[in-house]
Amino acid sequence: MPPASAKTSPTTSRPRRGEGQWALGYREPLNKNEENKKNDDGLNVRQRIIDIYSRAGFDSIDPADLRGRFRWYGLYTQRAPGIDGGKTAVLEPEELDDRYFMLRVRIDGGRLTVAQLRAIAEVSTAYGRDTADITDRQNVQLHWVRIEDVPAIWEKLEAVGLSTTEACGDTPRVILGCPLAGIAEEEVIDASEQIQQIYDEHIGSPLFSNLPRKFKTSIAGCSVHCVNHEINDVAFVGVIGPDGTPGYDLFVGGGLSTNPMFAQRLGVFVRPDQVSEVWAGVCSVFRDYGYRRLRHRARIKFLVKDWGTAKFREVLEKEYLGYALPDGPAPELDPGLRRDHVGVHRQRDGRYYVGFAPKVGRVSGTTLARIADIAEAHGSDRVHTTADQKLVILDIDEERVDSAVSALEAEGLQVNPGTFRRQTMACTGIEFCKLAIVETKARGATLIEELERRLPDFPEPITINLNGCPNSCARIQVADIGLKGQLVTNAAGEQVEGYQVHLGGGMGLNAAFGRKVRGLKTTAEELPDYVERVLRRYLEQKEDGEAFAQ
Ligand code: SF4
Repeated sequence: MPPASAKTSPTTSRPRRGEGQWALGYREPLNKNEENKKNDDGLNVRQRIIDIYSRAGFDSIDPADLRGRFRWYGLYTQRAPGIDGGKTAVLEPEELDDRYFMLRVRIDGGRLTVAQLRAIAEVSTAYGRDTADITDRQNVQLHWVRIEDVPAIWEKLEAVGLSTTEACGDTPRVILGCPLAGIAEEEVIDASEQIQQIYDEHIGSPLFSNLPRKFKTSIAGCSVHCVNHEINDVAFVGVIGPDGTPGYDLFVGGGLSTNPMFAQRLGVFVRPDQVSEVWAGVCSVFRDYGYRRLRHRARIKFLVKDWGTAKFREVLEKEYLGYALPDGPAPELDPGLRRDHVGVHRQRDGRYYVGFAPKVGRVSGTTLARIADIAEAHGSDRVHTTADQKLVILDIDEERVDSAVSALEAEGLQVNPGTFRRQTMACTGIEFCKLAIVETKARGATLIEELERRLPDFPEPITINLNGCPNSCARIQVADIGLKGQLVTNAAGEQVEGYQVHLGGGMGLNAAFGRKVRGLKTTAEELPDYVERVLRRYLEQKEDGEAFAQ
């Protein structure tokens, strides 16, 4: 088999206009980002942070590192406080920069031990002003981090096996996995080993540290498809193979934001022992043939769309794997509408897991430390993150479940939340994000409170996702009600914070992108009224069994 990195000779015809594909000979950088990556590998910034920047302070940081390579270690400058969303597009990037950082800790497979959770909690309280957000990619994000403290933070995290390497940047990001892998009664396959193997073999490797853009992976055998394979760049989905043994179906090209696309099946069956190699093959196709000229076309979905799945499969097999993969079956579709693993459920070993819902993923270091205490006091050493900004404590004996539930609820972490607490997500928003136009987290929390008050016991599982800008970090295009932050004009003719509304998105059986209807906008102030009206109308008009997205 040729090494995954060895591809240089194309077998495809040259497109009319080069898009910066390495495999077609475009090795000269075609934009500033590509130039920065060519000048120096993002992974090399780690030593400069340890040796120079953390000692000499913020002003010593080379701008190409500050706004580029720092991301290879999960560091972004956060937005300077007090700059409103109207300035997002008109100010230079450096005018939006704060001297503090967001730091993303990658949690591959969402798997955390109690010791790891404690380490994150301690970093948050010692170095991050007690901030912590659970993201919808199973990571934890901290804020208010100073460059001076980064080496000490890394030391603390790495001592318990955690890392921030390639948590951001044009790299293979965190690998999503079912938080119940190995314990769920109904899972098709436990993907933990494959996730760990990819992490060990490929994360932090210079072979994959200069991709055209970010590369998102999910690997799971979860029966409800909790990691949302439909919107990952590459996804391995548990199936029973032609020979009756479990393995994976392979999807490529999923992604939201600009030109959203659901991932496409290649129609192959991948054995568990082939997953790491096949992952490297797909990642290499993206690295070598991915479009690098324009950032907004640099995701793998554009390549998959242009090539189609047959050609993608052929290039993967012939040029990278050196063998053909057998045809395989499609995964069974998820008949449920909830993928979040919230609530108390039995594990296949007879113990129980308890999934619970912070509001819009926001917790704190102090709260994370309390969760670690609760887990430990109830005999558990595992607290996992979900792809819905939730947490799950695993391995609780039946007789201790009630006590664990009470302890969590005393911290405001609901185990049996209503629809709105359970299914509302919000991205980082203007509080910290430099791309944001509007506030999201606090507004999401207020929206939950208002809807719980106005529509108590709402019977349907409605997802409401808030984004602070046109990107889709909180997956607005696949929510029942997706709210895209933008400036809108209020009744007095003033430009104020508000949202463009997308209606009727979903995944699983109801996979569809929400429809953006012209004129469907609301000011932030009127948001609870607006959503309440939409939901009341839905309850009044729906036919028997009709879901919101239908
Ligand atoms: Fe920032 Fe926009 Fe992503 Fe929200 S959606 S975190 S505002 S880039």
